[in-house]
Amino acid sequence: MNNKDRIYNFSAGPSMLPADVLESAARELTNYAGSGQSVMEMSHRSEEFETILRDAERDLREILGIPANYKTLFLQGGATLQFSMVPLNLLGKSKKADYVVTGAWAKKAAEEAVKFGDIKIAASSEASKFTYIPELRREDFRPDADYVHITWNNTIYGTRFPYIPDTGDVPLVCDLSSGILSEEIDVSRFGLIYAGAQKNIGPAGMTVVIAREDLIGFAPRTVPAYLDYKIHADNDSLYNTPPCFAIYLAGKVFKKIKREGGAAALEKKCLEKAEKLYDSIDSSALYRCPVERKDRSRVNIVFVTGDQALDKKFVAEAKEAGLYNLAGHRSIGGMRASVYNAMPMEGVDALLSFMKKFESENKDKRSEKRGQERSV
Ligand code: PMP
Repeated sequence: MNNKDRIYNFSAGPSMLPADVLESAARELTNYAGSGQSVMEMSHRSEEFETILRDAERDLREILGIPANYKTLFLQGGATLQFSMVPLNLLGKSKKADYVVTGAWAKKAAEEAVKFGDIKIAASSEASKFTYIPELRREDFRPDADYVHITWNNTIYGTRFPYIPDTGDVPLVCDLSSGILSEEIDVSRFGLIYAGAQKNIGPAGMTVVIAREDLIGFAPRTVPAYLDYKIHADNDSLYNTPPCFAIYLAGKVFKKIKREGGAAALEKKCLEKAEKLYDSIDSSALYRCPVERKDRSRVNIVFVTGDQALDKKFVAEAKEAGLYNLAGHRSIGGMRASVYNAMPMEGVDALLSFMKKFESENKDKRSEKRGQERSV
């Protein structure tokens, strides 16, 4: 594969995968490790596949430092299915849960949970267009809640929790879809973590769930088998056919991460990329990041010019320059550069040069921008 033929894809997910991982999978596509078959064709009960699955799980546990009293599950249904699996399994005692609404996905998670129990919105930043993360204290949560739910990184609005909320004895559940593997994380501070794969892990179709053992096994008898964590945990993610090919590719990504220094190295690289982009936005007279500095996402960098037509022009001209999918989410517009692990520094540098060039070509808009900024 010639990497020159590859675009820089700034999509929020599915997003870029490491080229060497794709190349290695391409080499093995029709004949995996001399087995005479593709991983796509292989029985999920075969020795070869079980090794792929066990290795992937072991490597992920090692990278994230997952304590022994947590199960790691590879499921299907995306993060969206977790919006219902979490309440179905964890609303065991008081049937109360507190949600922190910091974006569209967090809101969806809360709306789904309402179907199953007494859900309270402990805090929301919606009135400020989700441009910040609320500061929360233990008193903000009901002490008898079965869990508290947060969304670590808000993919659409470009915010990230700069701290882990103190929930006392109430287990903290975290949607880590767009934050996983971009930083070191202390898993022991959470009761349950879930993440869709299609950002930093691998292809869509696989969801990682990391659950503390004492929290699972309490789903009511009426919960469908697939939605019960205990069934997946007891069967080591092989209750039914798992997303085999996605697990195989994720396993390759995990091996690469381990070779290249683990979570600490990922965090360092991620911060370098984000800082470069924010520095350039903050020092520009044309672009502005609407998010409060302390709460800025390290992977979804949101920015605007303040002029919607100019934003559209930016996105279109960037595409011509080989920089794809820079449009903000369809619900908010503007621009969003998603720079997950597989986005090389050269991609970020190419975007920075393009931003400079675009700014100098659209100088007449700068003074207008400055005026708007003062009134924001
Ligand atoms: N949570 C977050 C933070 C997300 O970014 C997304 C998707 N981008 C989802 C949940 C929904 O994930 P899925 O499409 O895998 O169901």
